[in-house]
Amino acid sequence: MDFSQLRAQFPTLEQTLAGYPLCYLDTAATSQKPKQVIAAMTRYYETDNANVHRAAHQLSSRATSQYEAVRDSLTYFIHAKQREEIIFTHGTTESINMVAHGLTGQIKAGDLILIDTAAHHANIVPWQELAKRTGAIIKPIPLTEECRLDEAAFDALLLEKPAIVALSHVSNALGTLNPVSDLVARAKRAGALTLVDGAQAIAHLEVNVQALDCDFYVFSAHKMYGPTGVGVLYGRFDILDTLAPLITGGEMIKTVSFEATQFNLLPNRLEAGTPPIAEVIGLGAAIDFINALPRADIAKQEAELLHYLQTQLKQLGDITLYGANDNNIGAVAFNLADEHHQDVGILLDQQGIAVRCGHHCAMPLMQSLGIKGCCRASLGIYSSKEDIDRFIDALKSVKDMLL
Ligand code: PLP
Repeated sequence: MDFSQLRAQFPTLEQTLAGYPLCYLDTAATSQKPKQVIAAMTRYYETDNANVHRAAHQLSSRATSQYEAVRDSLTYFIHAKQREEIIFTHGTTESINMVAHGLTGQIKAGDLILIDTAAHHANIVPWQELAKRTGAIIKPIPLTEECRLDEAAFDALLLEKPAIVALSHVSNALGTLNPVSDLVARAKRAGALTLVDGAQAIAHLEVNVQALDCDFYVFSAHKMYGPTGVGVLYGRFDILDTLAPLITGGEMIKTVSFEATQFNLLPNRLEAGTPPIAEVIGLGAAIDFINALPRADIAKQEAELLHYLQTQLKQLGDITLYGANDNNIGAVAFNLADEHHQDVGILLDQQGIAVRCGHHCAMPLMQSLGIKGCCRASLGIYSSKEDIDRFIDALKSVKDMLL
């Protein structure tokens, strides 16, 4: 693989900030987009722009076939059993809301919902709202000292026969990887429905939802080199088919009268209104882009780079790393001595280095770590050893300035 050719496909990376070449270490927040994705969306608007599923004309039929072809690509991409198991949403957040809302009639007072302590707020708040509506109870699954999910505590919680277990595949704040297929198997033996938040995994790992055996798997296109505004809800057909729709209106119906409305079949039943057509087509281009890469080589290179990043940070001194394990994916969380993470982030930005600082939409995790926030550097396929060296040099100068 020619790395410089790969990197050259990302136009945003070819810029300077305050005289410094951009060093983008915030892929976990959103990835940069390759030319192919931008071109696919532009092509749709320039040549095929029409609404899907509705009209008899050729433009609409071209738009529809491109839109539906992405459902097929996704079916193969995550190894779903059938295309009706793929629902287009506006992102991971909406996907989880659709599940939590859709299960309302199936959850009763006293039912237990278990949530990974490292979960993103998107995988916490919709369940809290479900609990408010139904009287269900939420319990966090604690973490070990190394910030891994505490499997002994998980097993103990499973004895309480939870109705739902919501897990992160990879933590967005720390990059820690959960052994999800094993955790899902245990949750299922206890009789729980399982949802896996794959927002941070989908760009880095080959996901096979049938092998994971989860009931729901959710992710966003913008974290996998695709556009913002579109995401995916995968659901096992029989359970997906029982979800009450979160959004109702056009497209999701078979017949409407003022006396009674009959909903459509999956997947349309859960895709009300005009979908984000250009974005879905952009997602299709992102999948083609990823599929054309040597994924095993990329995964190896990403793992080596992350290890290098963790090691360099440790060697810098006065750095606290959070949950930096060997099998982490794509991100490292740290603080510089007692300095405020925001100050560190701003000083890095002045040298063209983009990292994320804050609570990373994981306030319960920050509480369990005893901190208000931290900095996070995260990697994508375009990240290089030079990026890390530049970041470490810049952090050295921040350290000299502040300490
Ligand atoms: N879950 C995880 C693990 C995430 O990293 C994110 C985004 O950072 C989300 C959920 C929410 O994704 P979105 O904002 O695309 O809906």
